[in-house]
Amino acid sequence: MAINNHVADSHTELESWATLFKSLSDPHRLQIIQHLQLGEHRVADLVDHLGLAQSTVSTHVASLRNAGLLASHTHGRATYYTLAHPQETVQLLKAASEVLTSSDTCIESSQQQSTSHA
Ligand SMILES: [Zn+2]
Repeated sequence: MAINNHVADSHTELESWATLFKSLSDPHRLQIIQHLQLGEHRVADLVDHLGLAQSTVSTHVASLRNAGLLASHTHGRATYYTLAHPQETVQLLKAASEVLTSSDTCIESSQQQSTSHA
């Protein structure tokens, strides 16, 4: 473990961070995380709740799972997904929302200098 637990100290660790953030870089995957915050879901539940195709949901779930964000358990023939680290994941999203709130303020105060990327 790194001495400062918020500093990645090896390339491998940075790669893991990138994998984690890549898995979060999709609105539907963030939506899946929000549903899993409420409790365990099967892929079929997520298909219902998100209104997406089953193959799409399965791909998103696999991505989140590869990043270590999801845990699963089987019950009979059904696989249930939960957040592997519920508290940490909620904190991560909360931090993201705080960054967005404060960057809104920055955009407002530096609007004249901003360039359009549209
Ligand atoms: Zn749901």
